[in-house]
Amino acid sequence: MSALLEIDKLCVWYGPVFALKDATLSVGNGEAVALIGANGAGKSTLFKSIVGFQRPKSGALRFLDRDVMGLRTEQRIRLGLGYSPEGRRVFPGLSVRENLEVAIYAGKAERARRLDRAFTLFPQLAARQEALGWQLSGGQQQMLAIGRALMGQPRLLLLDEPSLGLSPKLADEVLAGIRGVVRDGTSVLLAEQNVGKALACCDRAYVLEVGKIVLAGTAETLRDTEEVKRAFLGG
Ligand code: ATP
Repeated sequence: MSALLEIDKLCVWYGPVFALKDATLSVGNGEAVALIGANGAGKSTLFKSIVGFQRPKSGALRFLDRDVMGLRTEQRIRLGLGYSPEGRRVFPGLSVRENLEVAIYAGKAERARRLDRAFTLFPQLAARQEALGWQLSGGQQQMLAIGRALMGQPRLLLLDEPSLGLSPKLADEVLAGIRGVVRDGTSVLLAEQNVGKALACCDRAYVLEVGKIVLAGTAETLRDTEEVKRAFLGG
């Protein structure tokens, strides 16, 4: 079985400075994969390259067995990519339900089904359907941002630092939703600085350091790796 997303030796430069060097990674069907690394390691650059906001200098990018490097962002999204960028972007003046509805292009029955799916995934949103975006807690805003990215029923969801700025408890609640996303048939690539939490909710992970993938493995293996313990888990 071939991977859903296959990235091979991707290089991205900002002027004279590289942000990604020979990044090679894959995400399979039914997998949640974490991309872990400190501030500035290149996580957002990788996501922007996948959705087509950033043009890599070299390397290959395949999604659903297609070379997508030459495709525009909207074409990639139509193929089945979902993107939830860093920073909980919700419409503050729209209700929870409206925030979700603006992201669905489908008939009435299908809209109801997708809303229902988001509310099942994040029961806290179901309880606050009529609340306005700005009235939600940080965690609920992040859940809403994820829910909105799922409205297009993507095959792969790119999730950029959903726990940023949240209390540990709220971060856990948001990340708990990731297993549900995968169960519903959407694979996930999750960028996180919080390594402990990322390894707890993902199947595999890649460690990115200054634009290079320095470690890769199953979450279980990486949790026990001395380098990961020392650098990220305070071990
Ligand atoms: P963060 O968690 O802070 O978002 P990140 O892992 O997502 O970090 P990137 O935002 O991808 O990292 O940045 C990777 C490197 O590229 C950093 O050194 C950053 O300063 C640099 N960089 C990012 N965007 C630009 C840009 N538009 N112009 C120049 N350099 C950039």
